[in-house]
Amino acid sequence: MEHFETIVIGGGSAGLAAAIALGRSRRTVLVIDEGQPRNEAAQHAHNVLGNEGINPLELLSRGRQEAISYGVQIIEGAVDRLTGSLDTGFRVTASGQSFSAGRIVLATGLVDDLPAIPGLDRAWGDTAAHCAYCHGWEVRDQEILVLGLGPMSTHQAMMFSQLSPNITFINHNPSALNDENRATLAALGIPVIEQSVQEIEFDAQGDLDSVKLADGRNVSAQALVVASKMNAQASLYLSLGGQLAEHPLGTFIQVDDMGATALPGVYAAGNASNLGAMVMAAAASGTIAGAAINADLLGKQLAKVQAQA
Ligand SMILES: Cc1cc2nc3c(=O)[nH]c(=O)nc-3n(C[C@H](O)[C@H](O)[C@H](O)COP(=O)(O)OP(=O)(O)OC[C@H]3O[C@@H](n4cnc5c(N)ncnc54)[C@H](O)[C@@H]3O)c2cc1C
Repeated sequence: MEHFETIVIGGGSAGLAAAIALGRSRRTVLVIDEGQPRNEAAQHAHNVLGNEGINPLELLSRGRQEAISYGVQIIEGAVDRLTGSLDTGFRVTASGQSFSAGRIVLATGLVDDLPAIPGLDRAWGDTAAHCAYCHGWEVRDQEILVLGLGPMSTHQAMMFSQLSPNITFINHNPSALNDENRATLAALGIPVIEQSVQEIEFDAQGDLDSVKLADGRNVSAQALVVASKMNAQASLYLSLGGQLAEHPLGTFIQVDDMGATALPGVYAAGNASNLGAMVMAAAASGTIAGAAINADLLGKQLAKVQAQA
């Protein structure tokens, strides 16, 4: 079985950044990636310094080439089994192949759970957005509908009200708004429609047209704002005995400042450990985790040499 000093599971911004930090330190690294980054539905990635507006898949393609140039091996596939510990070593199985590793980086991202509204999947990543930093500028001054789904929705309405004077709040889930939320929306001059959304409708060109409400009305829209429920893809961590932490937005893998989880030898980076991390923050946490693993390995090597002296 081929052995690597570190196996990185997930090759998005976080995983590739971790691999590059380790590869540049001449560590043996394998990245196993299923190739479904969270933002693959979007055409552009914003707030990516030096690469503003780049296509998300192009960014990762460049990252893969950079990692490979430092000796990192990358294979496509889904890791379906992770066993072992720091003491015994880890064993990773993907697509019928098994590998062993001294350290693990979980950079598996998160899953956005969207409400089951027909048409929403089609608009997601294009005219249906969750994040003002990712998509806000692109929909400035447009007719924006914020779907009231939970406590995050009022915050989103506030964020998007910076970008357009034309915001309407559709209170899809009646429990989304408490008195304080209502006061916030009123203070911002954002009208609230107390209806659930039945369907998202598109025009003949395929562009977003309107939302159809439960009472049969159509409200026209150029953009939708939707708060997804975010859960770290953490089944592998759970299978090792790890436990997830709760956040108002969903669940995630708790790490320390260097990306170390509660399980020795297992690190996590990107959206797996920080639900709010955008591309650059995900990459930064990957770099930190890679550097932390390298420092850990150096310390162990030094101790071994000193013990033999
Ligand atoms: C629609 C949308 C638009 C966005 N736009 C922006 C933007 O403009 N700017 C910005 O900064 N951020 C944006 N984001 C956020 C951005 O997607 C995340 O910050 C970023 O993807 C996090 O990187 P990551 O490496 O943690 O996870 P991901 O990019 O999701 O990568 C995780 C990788 O791990 C793989 N994986 C998961 N499980 C396994 C497994 N078991 N085995 C092997 N591989 C596995 C996945 O297939 C994937 O390739 C957007 C998000 C969405 C949803």
